[in-house]
Amino acid sequence: MPEKCPVCGFRYEIELGFYWGAMYMSYGLSVVIVFLVGITLYFLANDPPTWVYLTTVATVVILFTPLLFRYARVMMLYFFGSVSFDPKYKQS
Ligand SMILES: [Zn+2]
Repeated sequence: MPEKCPVCGFRYEIELGFYWGAMYMSYGLSVVIVFLVGITLYFLANDPPTWVYLTTVATVVILFTPLLFRYARVMMLYFFGSVSFDPKYKQS
């Protein structure tokens, strides 16, 4: 993550340890993925054995980790960092 926004110069680290809260956001997003994958497996794979649930959920969560990491930080900025999207700075 860059220290400052390359477009507007906004300093991302609002205060020391600001992104600790992103861990909880990431955890929440992971739980949502676990439930979605679990429910999907239950209905589409007709309730497979437990090892199928465990390996599939673990694989999907691991694959989504880079995305979760970034979105958790974005959510942290939007919810607690008083940051909002300004279309004026949107790059096409
Ligand atoms: Zn910016």
